[in-house]
Amino acid sequence: MIDDGRRHAVAASLQAVRARIDAACAACGREPGEVRLVAVSKFHDDASVRAAFDAGQRAFGENYVQELCAKSAALADCSGIEWHVIGHLQRNKARDVVARAAMVHTVDSARLAAALDRQCAEQGRSLPVLVQVNVGAESQKSGCAPDELSAVLDACAGLSHVRVRGLMTVPPETDEAAESLRYFEMLATLRDAHGGRSALPELSMGMTHDLEHAVRAGATLVRVGTAIFGARAHPSPAGER
Ligand SMILES: *Cc1c(COP(=O)(O)O)cnc(C)c1O
Repeated sequence: MIDDGRRHAVAASLQAVRARIDAACAACGREPGEVRLVAVSKFHDDASVRAAFDAGQRAFGENYVQELCAKSAALADCSGIEWHVIGHLQRNKARDVVARAAMVHTVDSARLAAALDRQCAEQGRSLPVLVQVNVGAESQKSGCAPDELSAVLDACAGLSHVRVRGLMTVPPETDEAAESLRYFEMLATLRDAHGGRSALPELSMGMTHDLEHAVRAGATLVRVGTAIFGARAHPSPAGER
């Protein structure tokens, strides 16, 4: 359980983040409705998610399948809630993910896309996905390399249930949010080189510290955790960023 103070704090933070997104859109002449907020709830309790849901938030991002399973069960009564998978995904988790996710942001190989597609066939659904690109070419980070993107997209084009809707990235960690901008622009450039907006309408990029830069570079989905829910108990688990 959480107290009323916490509920109000989550609602107020959510509103403040929405205001940041709207201001960032205004600053670059975009419509606020073009940018959806994915509230990243990893390591935060069910009650905090429910507080955000009650304040109108619908899309939530989770990094770990175990946590996704637990939260989606605990919040099964929240009609219209959407779970977005934003963490590195192993193929043996495809079944659990396909049963619960509205969108997977982290497809980074043809094999993972194929595993998701098989599960979709079994469960009788289609699945919108994004291809994660490691634009910073960091060795420890997941995501396909920019020069592997064509191959992953081609493989996905041959699948009948997995639908690629766009690209996602997590730029190299930096103290200077402005440094993220060039990585966000790289992702937008890659999108333009692979069919443009009509083929890949979504760009998932931008977090608490750099969402304004992401909006400026064309983000349609921003993934924000800390600014909504506060600091996490485990700020940077292995493989997160
Ligand atoms: C944790 C996480 C976020 C949210 O980061 P904040 O800095 O808390 O906003 C966004 N995207 C991914 C992939 C994450 O792992």
